[in-house]
Amino acid sequence: MTARILCVEDNPQNMRLVRKLLRNNYTLLEAEDGLTGLRLAEEEIPDLILMDINLPDIDGLEVTRRIKAQKHLAHIPIIALTANAMYGDEEKYLAGGCDGYIAKPVMRDKLFSAIETFLNEKATGSSQS
Ligand code: MN
Repeated sequence: MTARILCVEDNPQNMRLVRKLLRNNYTLLEAEDGLTGLRLAEEEIPDLILMDINLPDIDGLEVTRRIKAQKHLAHIPIIALTANAMYGDEEKYLAGGCDGYIAKPVMRDKLFSAIETFLNEKATGSSQS
């Protein structure tokens, strides 16, 4: 089955790029702000989430906290996508509950290898339980 990926991203240009990169390999769900992202995560329970950090309403770390606080959603891998690539930021995102981190601009190979790593980890984990 095709993996379902939720992308929370308010910049239309970045969303278009993600859509273009992923559309042949995954089913993409899209949210343009944090609360919509949270609602879609709750309703759709995607296999993985790509999370922009700077969003117009609540930021991506807050969305991440609210998702990870829910037992039935906590397993979903969340990869932070952000331009805030400053020293210490990766630690901040990981401490905030994100499972991985990709600095913008998003490159195809980096994005795919991160997604596949997390999807495979998840598949391995569930086959062992
Ligand atoms: Mn943004």
